[in-house]
Amino acid sequence: MKLQLQHALEQVLARNPGEREFHQAVTEVFESLGPVLDRNPHYVDAAVLERLCEPERQIIFRVPWVDDTGHVRINRGFRVEFNSALGPYKGGLRFHPSVYLGIVKFLGFEQVFKNSLTDMPIGGGKGGSDFDPRGRSNGEVMRFCQSFMTELYRHIGEHTDVPAGDIGVGGREIGYLFGQYKRITNRYESGVITGKGVTWGGSLVRTEATGYGTVLFAERMLATRGLSFDGMRVVVSGSGNVAIHAIEKAQALGAHVVACSDSRGYVVDEKGIDLDVLRQVRDVERKPVSAYVDHRPGAHYVADARVWQVDAQVALPCATQNELDERDAKRLVDAGLLAVAEGANMPTTPEAVALLQDAGVLYAPGKAANAGGVATSALEMQQNATRDSWSFEHTEERLAGIMARIHDRCAETADEYGDPGNYVLGANIAGFTKVADAMLALGVV
Ligand code: GLU
Repeated sequence: MKLQLQHALEQVLARNPGEREFHQAVTEVFESLGPVLDRNPHYVDAAVLERLCEPERQIIFRVPWVDDTGHVRINRGFRVEFNSALGPYKGGLRFHPSVYLGIVKFLGFEQVFKNSLTDMPIGGGKGGSDFDPRGRSNGEVMRFCQSFMTELYRHIGEHTDVPAGDIGVGGREIGYLFGQYKRITNRYESGVITGKGVTWGGSLVRTEATGYGTVLFAERMLATRGLSFDGMRVVVSGSGNVAIHAIEKAQALGAHVVACSDSRGYVVDEKGIDLDVLRQVRDVERKPVSAYVDHRPGAHYVADARVWQVDAQVALPCATQNELDERDAKRLVDAGLLAVAEGANMPTTPEAVALLQDAGVLYAPGKAANAGGVATSALEMQQNATRDSWSFEHTEERLAGIMARIHDRCAETADEYGDPGNYVLGANIAGFTKVADAMLALGVV
């Protein structure tokens, strides 16, 4: 790594002790930036790297709420407003017991580059809480969301900061959050949050967008080698919103999707994952993925193991960070893996990424491959701003165009910097230069 980068990285590690995932995300980006600084020494003079790694604002707050048995519970809430050079802060909220500042900052940092790649006018931010919605009643989730928003509302706004969902935050939570915002402010400010229901300001395709977009990106990436999803054996990790829609789009393109998972284990269905059954189990019964096999004779469940035990030509990690490690990658490569596209944020460990790239596997990092979600959030903001609502077909066409452009820009940037097919390099450099140029134009702020 170049000396200036090394120096800036050391500063980040020292200033943010213990934030392991944030360190990982920054290191991965910095490893791509050497050639950019050679061509643009003015970025160094203006301390763009140092400024990029220091969030513009970090908010941490108490979230008190009362559970169904009358006990007072306390969680911690976060909103990290990372960078607003390109537009209002934009990024989701994650409710998961693992959430702490290091997770929110890694996600916020990634979001800055991802949002830049979409070419939409959105900056980067992220938030959430260590609240665990699993096993909580609707009433408890509502009271938690209302308490969370009672603090958050003063920091957000359609021109300031626009949250959305992430792990543990879906349509139900967005409804409760928006309802409380509306009540406190007495404003029907649709553009303050995205991922809304379609009858109250949401956009068609937003629910599908992250999973669909990941597969559309992968399809275009496969095409660079004359391949397609048609007949391809695919394994997906996760079974939430991103995974379900990745499976749906891959199947529509002719893929044979044989496995998916949750944090407890995975299911294999050699006849192909039946989405009606998966949706019934996950969305209606709200049960773990193991319940899938109760409805599908012939399918089997493996507990306490990773889905990467199952052979695949295309792997789509759609669960969470660091869920595919070097051992998984080696096994998959030995079994004939051709491509990986990330529906989740940073699901592949750095060692695994290196192994995949050395083996010549096509690899699409999340900040490019899963950008369809936030891009469609920006389309939702456009519809809110004009008080319009677009058809499914029109919105999906916009999404497809955006994914194609992101793919091509990553590929062209990798070519330009002399490393064709390196989507990590392409995504990091293309994402970075747009934000860096805007920061320079806006002065030292
Ligand atoms: N949480 C999603 C992501 O990782 C979506 C964010 C948004 O729509 O603002 O990009």
